[in-house]
Amino acid sequence: MKQALVIGGGPAGLMAAGELARAGLSVVVAEQMPTAGRKFLMAGKSGLNLTMDAPQDQLLAQYGGLGPLDAAVRGFDSAAVKEWAQGLGQDVFTGSTGRVFPVTMKASPLLRAWLGDLTALGVDIRTRWRWTGWGEGDGFTFATPDGAVSLFPDVCVLALGGASWARLGSDGKWADILTGRGIAMQPFAPSNAGLSVPWSHAMERVFGQPVKNVAIHGDGQIFRGEFVISRHGLEGGGIYALSPLVRRGVELRLDLLPDWPLEKVVQRLARPQGKTSLTNHVRKAMRLDPARLALLQEFGRPFPADLARLVKNLPLRHGGLRPLDEAISTVGGVATGALDAGLMLRDWPGVFVAGEMVDWDAPTGGYLITGCLASGLWAGHHAAAFARSGRV
Ligand SMILES: Cc1cc2nc3c(=O)[nH]c(=O)nc-3n(C[C@H](O)[C@H](O)[C@H](O)COP(=O)(O)OP(=O)(O)OC[C@H]3O[C@@H](n4cnc5c(N)ncnc54)[C@H](O)[C@@H]3O)c2cc1C
Repeated sequence: MKQALVIGGGPAGLMAAGELARAGLSVVVAEQMPTAGRKFLMAGKSGLNLTMDAPQDQLLAQYGGLGPLDAAVRGFDSAAVKEWAQGLGQDVFTGSTGRVFPVTMKASPLLRAWLGDLTALGVDIRTRWRWTGWGEGDGFTFATPDGAVSLFPDVCVLALGGASWARLGSDGKWADILTGRGIAMQPFAPSNAGLSVPWSHAMERVFGQPVKNVAIHGDGQIFRGEFVISRHGLEGGGIYALSPLVRRGVELRLDLLPDWPLEKVVQRLARPQGKTSLTNHVRKAMRLDPARLALLQEFGRPFPADLARLVKNLPLRHGGLRPLDEAISTVGGVATGALDAGLMLRDWPGVFVAGEMVDWDAPTGGYLITGCLASGLWAGHHAAAFARSGRV
């Protein structure tokens, strides 16, 4: 029986493990944390968004260049993700924006069923096994509760995750091991991350408040989504989508009244101010809620003569993306050019790579988990074929 090793027990690794076991290989999953799937469980905390209910081309268009992972997502699209979850006994539903969730919203029932399925397939999950590199005879070496252990599998799938939320295991430390082996890597950077903003004291009264009905413009694109003013800056879906632009240094502008044409704002502001303060006049004339008014004051003071234009074109001054470890996902990792069409490392035959550890990007909306499941399945499938081919 051929031996397969999967390193990393997140969604990509578990998917690869199942595929390898179904192909008749003996499978060990090595996971450094005390339990598998910790980031997956965290993803389920605010509603596990498994995929986006969209036609295949629309789905693929959301990934900023998948390279060799493109075929993987074509082979395991949103319809397949839904079917897979249902196959594990988890009913799913599609929300109004097309996002697909398990009916329970959580990740734990799905993960439990999934791990049960893998156990039934004979997959051996070894936790507290941290991959440390390779040793004599090119074995994969691990720090385990019983000391250092080396494994010599016929094929291996690396599914080590990105470099955010290190406390859940996704610490990116594996990058040094692969760099040492000469594998082409891209530096990690935050994606789907909040924005740091060094607020003035005046903003403290709106910390925690949602910002609705605004548009953000950048690089000819318009983003409309809600976000929250936090102590450290701006957070939430409407901000996460901006990450690729922020990484490229694109200037961002807020439109605080995206549903009002400029003329309407001009007319409203031209109403007599009377004895009210300028702030109250501005608030009443444009019906601005406290959060939007605070943003106008923070980014717009001192107000220029042409205030109407500023309201619709307010510079969003920020200090860059929030730190890497806070990001929902990370870009960087194994360069797609280092992989062949089956996600095998060109310079390390028999070693395949899947999930967020590969350099690809996608917004929130279920695209991340879909990409991880699809690439895990694809890598597992090709690793099994490699083992069967006798090339090992
Ligand atoms: C708060 C939050 C909410 C999210 N919500 C969603 C969502 O709703 N929808 C969505 O699509 N995505 C969501 N994501 C993103 C999604 O969870 C990740 O993209 C996904 O888990 C990545 O899967 P992966 O298998 O590639 O890596 P991971 O899930 O990170 O798993 C990698 C595993 O490898 C292990 N590992 C690392 N190094 C070693 C080593 N040296 N030895 C042994 N094991 C090692 C880690 O411990 C980890 O368990 C969310 C992320 C966060 C943080």
